[in-house]
Amino acid sequence: MKPVPKPLFLRGARVLDLDADLDDPPARDILCEGGAITAVGTGLAVPDGAEVIEASGMLAIPGLVNSHYHSHDVLAKGMFEDLSLEHWGVLAGPLGAKRSLAEVRARTLAGALECLHNGITTVQDMNSTAPFSDEVLDTIVGAYADAGIRVILGMTVRDQSQLDTIPWIADLAPAELHGIIGTGRDAAGPQMAFVEAALDRIGDRGGMVRWALAPSAPQRCSPALLEAVADLSRRRSLPVYTHVYESRTQRIFAHERLKAHGGSAIRLLEDTGLLGPHVSLAHGIWLDDDELDTVGSTGTNVVLNMLSNLKLKSGVAPILEYRARGVNIALGCDNCSCSDVQSMLQVMKLFCLLAAVSTLERSTVTAAEALRAGTLGGARSAGLSGSIGAIKAGHRADLVLMDRTDPAYVPYNSAVRQLVYADSGRSIRRVIVDGEVVVQDGRSTRVDEAALRGEIEGLMPSVRADIGKLQAGYVKVLPWIDEVNRRAWSMPLPFHRHVGLPRR
Ligand SMILES: [Zn+2]
Repeated sequence: MKPVPKPLFLRGARVLDLDADLDDPPARDILCEGGAITAVGTGLAVPDGAEVIEASGMLAIPGLVNSHYHSHDVLAKGMFEDLSLEHWGVLAGPLGAKRSLAEVRARTLAGALECLHNGITTVQDMNSTAPFSDEVLDTIVGAYADAGIRVILGMTVRDQSQLDTIPWIADLAPAELHGIIGTGRDAAGPQMAFVEAALDRIGDRGGMVRWALAPSAPQRCSPALLEAVADLSRRRSLPVYTHVYESRTQRIFAHERLKAHGGSAIRLLEDTGLLGPHVSLAHGIWLDDDELDTVGSTGTNVVLNMLSNLKLKSGVAPILEYRARGVNIALGCDNCSCSDVQSMLQVMKLFCLLAAVSTLERSTVTAAEALRAGTLGGARSAGLSGSIGAIKAGHRADLVLMDRTDPAYVPYNSAVRQLVYADSGRSIRRVIVDGEVVVQDGRSTRVDEAALRGEIEGLMPSVRADIGKLQAGYVKVLPWIDEVNRRAWSMPLPFHRHVGLPRR
């Protein structure tokens, strides 16, 4: 259990509140006690022993919620380019497996610190490590605790191989290459037993660690595994994260291989009890109208990841269709090996811009709506509505102070629009999580970042050598993945999600 921080008193910050004036937010004092916001108002009394921060030049925003992230491949940031999702999956899929505890700690810390530096105070980590072990999990949880970020942790489970889930590839690629694509199938039972045991063994660490269940994707799990996830979720009231319809090829796979569920990954989830307000679908790009209706009518959340979706040629999610159905939208930054940055500011801006270019009509997907998705939308997807995502009394004290003298806010016309469209994160001065300042003036207050950089430098030769081996294998199977994608892309669909390509 972490020690309770002393009271924190922020005097006179402009407080961005989605229920109030977003262009010229009023100046307010914020009192944080016991890790929670206990009062927001004017002329508040400073309690004895409180640390006082003069914040009149600051814009205070709720801590951002990165609702889809994977910490296992942070060290592969900037390594890959020009890959489709299927190429990337084969190349980058094994990155988290069989790594040293030193590497697990370094990558988890580095990712958490990048999030914090960019104003992200909660991260929803869909963690892919193999094999499962208490030591690895304890290392991950320990690194998050040391960084001082709030985490919702889901250990990814699956019992179908990579080869099982890419259409036609088992027939196209020579058998001797199947191992490179991925033939490993771990049994469902031990994975679920490990996940359930971890809930009790580790607990919630004073609320800083929460647990989620993370079936990798419907097509990567047997119906029995999905049902076991649904059962555990019900018994322990846990949110569920899964990847759905990230690429056109996955859409075609569903038509071809999920015939028992109407050729629909959404139907498969519904049939196994995995739709509803506790479930978040990451990506959700290639749903058809009926599936969008089902997501809307069941209250299921969607987590959009524009950075990885664009870089991996996956397409543009139907933002306006989700919006029209009242679907709760959260936003995420996804893997470092395919989006390269943990910046909700970049994602919120893309959310607005891609919505704008999705119709010629006025779409009214505004900066305020992006901020809502990046805070309250994420809170809901994590099952933490009313606890995080807003600067209000009763919420946890997760917030960010941005310097209004930064060029992004000069002249100061609209706090929320300049936050979303103009600020790169350069203005961030303090990041506060659970009432504690964990980043101040660009530095972690808890982690020796220079030492961490040195450790990572020492780890990288072996990381690069192992990724080099993966690349040598990947080059051999690349033509067959190209063939799969070309075949999938030549098959007709009644809708499209790409930019600048003819409808097919
Ligand atoms: Zn993902």
